[in-house]
Amino acid sequence: MTVDSIKNGVVIDHITAGGGMEIYELLGLGSSNATVAIMKNVPSTKMGRKDIIKIDGDMAINLDVIGYVDPCATVNIIRDGVLVEKKSIDMPALLTDVIRCKNPRCITSTEQELAHVFKLTDRENRVYRCIYCETKGEAKRT
Ligand code: ZN
Repeated sequence: MTVDSIKNGVVIDHITAGGGMEIYELLGLGSSNATVAIMKNVPSTKMGRKDIIKIDGDMAINLDVIGYVDPCATVNIIRDGVLVEKKSIDMPALLTDVIRCKNPRCITSTEQELAHVFKLTDRENRVYRCIYCETKGEAKRT
């Protein structure tokens, strides 16, 4: 694919510069077969610098991941070269199996089948806490 245009796919735009890799990892794009382009530090009139991820092909995107890493990012769905849908992004109230609890004494480390669920406890500071042990969710955010 060319980096400028895709016919069918998803464009995650307006990612705060530096956040692209984390979204890429949390969406599991590294292990998918999709053709993916990450552009880092793209000059932006609005943001100074931004990251962009382009995914060629139909793919269900976990919008919770985007909302968690960067609620200001935009997700555009492209069909036949035309922008058909702009997804609205918001911080999810609950984040399920996106990040893992790092507390070794948390029940999720012994009960392997338990989902790792984090709850948004502080919207302003974008703090998520494990619903089982209240450990803060760690993200290498920018
Ligand atoms: Zn926990």
